[in-house]
Amino acid sequence: MELPGENESLWIATTNQTNYPTLSKDISADAVVVGGGIAGISTAYLLQEAGIKTLVLDMRRICLGVTGNTTAKVTSLHDLIYTHLTSHFGKEQAKMYAEANETAIGFIEKISKEKKINCDFRRLPSFTFTTEEKEVEKFKKEVEAAKTLGLPASFTTDVPLPFKVKAAVRFENQAIFHPRKFVLGLAKEFVKNGGQIFENTKATEVAENKTSVVVKTEKGKVTAKQLVIASHFPFFDRGFYFARLYPYRSYVLAVELKEKVPQAILINLKQDSYRPHSYEQKDILIAGGGDHKTGEEPDTTSCYTYVQDRVKKEFSVKNILYRWSTQDNYTPDKVPYIGKDIPTSKRVFVATGFNGWGMTHGMVSAILLKDMITGKKNEWETLYNPSRINITASAKTVVKEATDTAKELIGGKIKPRKEIDTKNMPNNSAKVFTYNGKKVAVYKDSKGNVHAYSAECTHMGCIVNFNTAEKSWDCPCHGSRFNTDGKVLHGPALEDLKKIE
Ligand SMILES: Cc1cc2nc3c(=O)[nH]c(=O)nc-3n(C[C@H](O)[C@H](O)[C@H](O)COP(=O)(O)OP(=O)(O)OC[C@H]3O[C@@H](n4cnc5c(N)ncnc54)[C@H](O)[C@@H]3O)c2cc1C
Repeated sequence: MELPGENESLWIATTNQTNYPTLSKDISADAVVVGGGIAGISTAYLLQEAGIKTLVLDMRRICLGVTGNTTAKVTSLHDLIYTHLTSHFGKEQAKMYAEANETAIGFIEKISKEKKINCDFRRLPSFTFTTEEKEVEKFKKEVEAAKTLGLPASFTTDVPLPFKVKAAVRFENQAIFHPRKFVLGLAKEFVKNGGQIFENTKATEVAENKTSVVVKTEKGKVTAKQLVIASHFPFFDRGFYFARLYPYRSYVLAVELKEKVPQAILINLKQDSYRPHSYEQKDILIAGGGDHKTGEEPDTTSCYTYVQDRVKKEFSVKNILYRWSTQDNYTPDKVPYIGKDIPTSKRVFVATGFNGWGMTHGMVSAILLKDMITGKKNEWETLYNPSRINITASAKTVVKEATDTAKELIGGKIKPRKEIDTKNMPNNSAKVFTYNGKKVAVYKDSKGNVHAYSAECTHMGCIVNFNTAEKSWDCPCHGSRFNTDGKVLHGPALEDLKKIE
């Protein structure tokens, strides 16, 4: 089915490619950051500014990962998080979450103003809304919880949408920006301050000893005093993150309207969202939605059509300019993991599990990790501690996600075919076959060429499923993704799928 718009993120399409060198020899620094998205570059920037000689490694070009494909709403209004936090973590920690995210918005604004990073940063009100009568009470409670924590919250039904809502939480003074303009600008400042960035440099192994941490890459090794893992899904996982991070994909359209674009950040509890963006001197709408667990949706094309149909129903659409999709990691208790990767770690830190809110949490990570590494006390440490256990806040999610993963590990959802019969496969289609007892992922391209790879994800051996919209093989267990030539697109997998001749 033909989908509308260029299949590329508007953020990537409207910024230049970076061209940092590839690591070619062994090197040392005070700190090494793996991952050049918002979390990695912001952390590296603050560390370098604090006088810590830092370098960044990215396996591709920087900011082409999730940050290059986000929707970039910069807000502390995260669904109905404050009722959840107040009842499961207590008022003090809920307040810390609020403060951390509000501080992050202020930091992004301050840095972009001071460093003259022209990233289209704009303050706007933010709304979480519902059209369901049965949800009204929950929304009222959220407003009360947020107000008690000192957040700029109010209850309303007056929302800048072309349909009526039953309830909304409104936060004042939130923001939007162009994520790549911000991150690439920050990267330039980091390099100006003496930091180094190495692109196309994949980190593959880590060894921590008493005096240093060594990160192996395909081309050379980096020795440093501290390592920050900001690779989205941790590429080095001695903290069992694979068992407590759940990747979900989501779909985005950049849309020109015939009518005025709402000047607000808007999202409902299904994660259907809108925000404006100024594109070629006119306001356009960035619409998101269609979420599903990575590797579990048999027809991802329908996720784009879901967003498209919704926008067309709610607005008068002139043109769909771009479409793209990406995924984020969710945690069972809805709070990110930012801090030491394991309790006994002296040198390894992690920043992940942003639950769809990584614009602020990328900056929260930078502030917190900079403080931890420089030995400054930061009270957010307990809340974000990756080794915390909060059973009441996590129980429901853990049971559901663990059952899903176990199902996939045992057999996968796709019913395997008995033999490889590619003749009857139409061009541009994919199937998983069983051949000699092994599962084989077969893609027949538009010219009829057959690409066959082992269907076992190189991370933990789950069977990959085909993503029809993005033409990739996606793992339903931990979210690794591979292109139709078996190459890793997204971790935690580090190795490509094995070719089958
Ligand atoms: C559709 C969608 C919309 C979203 N909208 C919003 C929003 O409006 N507001 C908000 O706050 N959040 C939003 N989020 C969440 C937010 O975009 C993410 O949480 C955030 O971008 C993650 O940033 P990151 O730096 O952790 O990861 P990334 O940006 O993915 O950066 C990780 C980097 O690590 C590199 N890497 C990985 N493995 C290795 C390795 N082994 N060696 C070297 N490099 C490696 C990758 O190449 C990548 O560049 C959204 C998420 C989705 C899916």
